Amino acid sequence: MKKYVYFFGAGKAEGQGDAKELLGGKGAGLAEMTRIGLPVPGGFTITTETCDYYLKHDYKYPKELHAQVDANLKRLEKITGKRLGDAKDPLLVSVRSGSARSMPGMMETILNLGLNDESVAALARNTKNERFAYDAFRRFVQMYSAVVIGLPKEELEALLRDLKTHHGFKDDTQVTAEGWKELIAQYKSHFKRKTGKDFPEDPKEQLWGAIGAVFQSWNAEKALTYRRVERITGLLGTAVNVVQMVFGNTGENSGTGVCFTRDPSSGEKTFYGDFLINAQGEDVVAGIRTPMHLTEMGRLMPKVYKQLEKVRVLLEKHYRDMQDMEFTVEEGTLYMLQTRTGKRTPTATFRMAVDMVNEKLISREEALGRIKAEDVERLFYPVIDSSVPRADLGKRKLAEGINAVPGAASGRVVFTAHEAEEWAARGEKVILVRRETSPEDVGGMFVAQGILTATGGKTSHAAVVARGWGKCCVVGCEALNIDFDKKQMSVKGHIVKEGDWITLDGSDGSVLEGQVTLVLPVLPPAYYTIMKWADSVRRLGVRTNADTPQDATKAREMGAEGIGLCRTEHMFFKDFEQPDKSTERQLAIQEMIIADAPEARRKALAKLLPFQRRDFIGIFKAMDGCPVTIRLIDPPLHEFVPHDRDKQEELAKKIGVSVEVVARRVEQLHEANPMLGHRGCRLAITYPEILEMQVRAIIEAAIECKKAGVKVLPEIMHPLTLDRKELQIITDATRRVASEVIKEQGTKVDYLVGTMIELPRAALLADQIAEVAEFFSFGTNDLTQTTMGLSRDDAGRFLPDYVDEKKAGIFKDDPFQSLDVEGVGMLIEWGIERGRSTRPKLKVGICGEHGGDAESVKFCHKVGMDYVSASPYRVPISRLAAAQAVLEEKAAKHAGKKTKRAQ
Ligand code: PEP
Ligand code: MG
Repeated sequence: MKKYVYFFGAGKAEGQGDAKELLGGKGAGLAEMTRIGLPVPGGFTITTETCDYYLKHDYKYPKELHAQVDANLKRLEKITGKRLGDAKDPLLVSVRSGSARSMPGMMETILNLGLNDESVAALARNTKNERFAYDAFRRFVQMYSAVVIGLPKEELEALLRDLKTHHGFKDDTQVTAEGWKELIAQYKSHFKRKTGKDFPEDPKEQLWGAIGAVFQSWNAEKALTYRRVERITGLLGTAVNVVQMVFGNTGENSGTGVCFTRDPSSGEKTFYGDFLINAQGEDVVAGIRTPMHLTEMGRLMPKVYKQLEKVRVLLEKHYRDMQDMEFTVEEGTLYMLQTRTGKRTPTATFRMAVDMVNEKLISREEALGRIKAEDVERLFYPVIDSSVPRADLGKRKLAEGINAVPGAASGRVVFTAHEAEEWAARGEKVILVRRETSPEDVGGMFVAQGILTATGGKTSHAAVVARGWGKCCVVGCEALNIDFDKKQMSVKGHIVKEGDWITLDGSDGSVLEGQVTLVLPVLPPAYYTIMKWADSVRRLGVRTNADTPQDATKAREMGAEGIGLCRTEHMFFKDFEQPDKSTERQLAIQEMIIADAPEARRKALAKLLPFQRRDFIGIFKAMDGCPVTIRLIDPPLHEFVPHDRDKQEELAKKIGVSVEVVARRVEQLHEANPMLGHRGCRLAITYPEILEMQVRAIIEAAIECKKAGVKVLPEIMHPLTLDRKELQIITDATRRVASEVIKEQGTKVDYLVGTMIELPRAALLADQIAEVAEFFSFGTNDLTQTTMGLSRDDAGRFLPDYVDEKKAGIFKDDPFQSLDVEGVGMLIEWGIERGRSTRPKLKVGICGEHGGDAESVKFCHKVGMDYVSASPYRVPISRLAAAQAVLEEKAAKHAGKKTKRAQ
């Protein structure tokens, strides 16, 4: 019989920590903590497979489930000595969600289940605390009505608000037992009015209602959004944990908290967390009350605190990673309710990984494997420029909150997640301001530059979610007075309206008026250590795509070992060194295009030559000692000439021809499908003089640099090749011009001539092409476009539907971002194999955007490329991914050997 339910309690557990896929993170953690002897309340976990079955079978359970739940409930009743719904000593349970990947607050939980009119009276008697018992009951009725039945939360909250106003209670803690009784009666009649039924008294009915609701919450809008933005796929569903209730809200000797074994913001090895006296667990996470720091707990409950510290040490050693734990203290007794690997900021990710290696908790390989591409990317999120005068910041300061996630962000204020999404979609930078965030807000939180809340602590929903994204977040800013109706907030009498700019400083919690200059942060020392480790492991070279000396210099700082793609056409538009001279080169290229004879073209090109040569000298110098791949002109010529009449007239005047001549030439250049048209090396076939000018500029620059003591390694690259003969013609021309220059100058330089592989035909006939080309660089932007028949400029209109799981879900990722390994990858593999069949030492790289995508880089390693090339800020991502590729390959080999031995 299939096992759907796993028990834990009284020191024993059927499941264990590594069964996350089946038991969810929470279930596996509870089982493991029970096993290793920690104080965990008893309970049982219904598996994620059950959820999968339930959702696929029209909300029906597998037939074995009822009996298994009954048997486990009996077991729980036995070890606790209490019975669900009992009129004398009732067992109360929580019913909690928990999937294999942490989705903080995105799914449902129901607390205090098992209470009814009889058992609540027993709870009141046994605890001698009537107020507590009826508070627990009203919370249950409220949660059950909202979560299981789906009654609007606002209506229930309105009833609570009215009750408080009516009796003059300021906050919940003042409500008396009689008050709660009155509210329960109101909730029940509201329930009857809305559903036509009585509120369920039968605890079993309550239990099954709650189980179903938790399973269904897997597909709630907020859960779907969270999985989409976090790119969580391939899970079966959520597990359901039915756990004996313990109470942190029985009085001053009780409490509840969330803690981390290390500081999740800085990564420092200090015990860190939030604690609330006399409160139930959700109060901390929901950010409804601003909690105290964990050290306060050490003062108020020294004995329990010491016990918790021991648990901290034990769990971190056990899991070999930073843990995020939830606990409750009931009348001086500690209970652990959850442990999971904690979310952390990118800085903390790096620091913890290095520290744990130094503490011998994990190996270097594990440390490298733990860092994700997003962690690297987010490490570069901006901070406030230190050159902004302190006095200026002081003047701008509106308020100060709790510094939940460091970094800084500027944006225009919006007050709802929905608006954040709308504004961001039209390209606005926004700061989402909320009283507290709830899981429904994730979509808006994701697109916002930063998040600001009026309540909550460092473990509130806003903080936890933002931390996972490394997104600047300030919480608990109590000075904010938000008026959602008026779409404004007042801070100490100062009004900030929707659309006004503010800046958040997540490092000290400041909220500043207006837009403050942000700069890149100083990287933590651990980043350099990790990168050094990655470089010592990887086989792939990592180059960069850079068109200017500035980009090249930046890329070298980021660890690039050369340029894999320098797009020369950008140099026709802009003079990066002397921007005011840009028009001169624009005019020269336009004159060349308008010219109708080779001689006239040559004259115009001669004007361009010095510009190009200067650009190349700058780049060679920045890349002293590293290879530089320079690609000759690629875009269709129509991109360089004006299309509107005014600009054509202006150009005609400047180059001394009639406007009709310009207009006719522009007309001639028009193509229905320019991307498949007269571009790439096809231009060099038709206009060899362009190639001649560019090759001359490259070789002259290389010789000048060489004379100045710079080590130059130029690689001249022809784009969009599709045939051996085509490449032969332009390679011959390239070598001829290069030889002429070398002869003229009397100095030799070594250089290579190769091609991009951007068309399926080129990949298919790679053996022939490699007879001519000294290197290949896969231009996977165009190769994806031409293999898949998807326009890289237009497919964005419908591609999201292809990727969205909720819509067509045809591709796992956008193929222009992450390589289509199955299709385009097949051509690449074929191309490399074929190419090396005729030129065994053929150098192979990639220079499409995929060179900076971690998964694609791993593929490039697997198929034996020599290097990848990525834009400067993605270079570290590629370095890390290249190292991870080696480690994953080793692990796979090792696993292969093991299974062989086992056979
Ligand atoms: C490519 O097509 O992958 C490439 C790098 O060239 P571009 O993006 O300039 O077309
Ligand atoms: Mg291309």
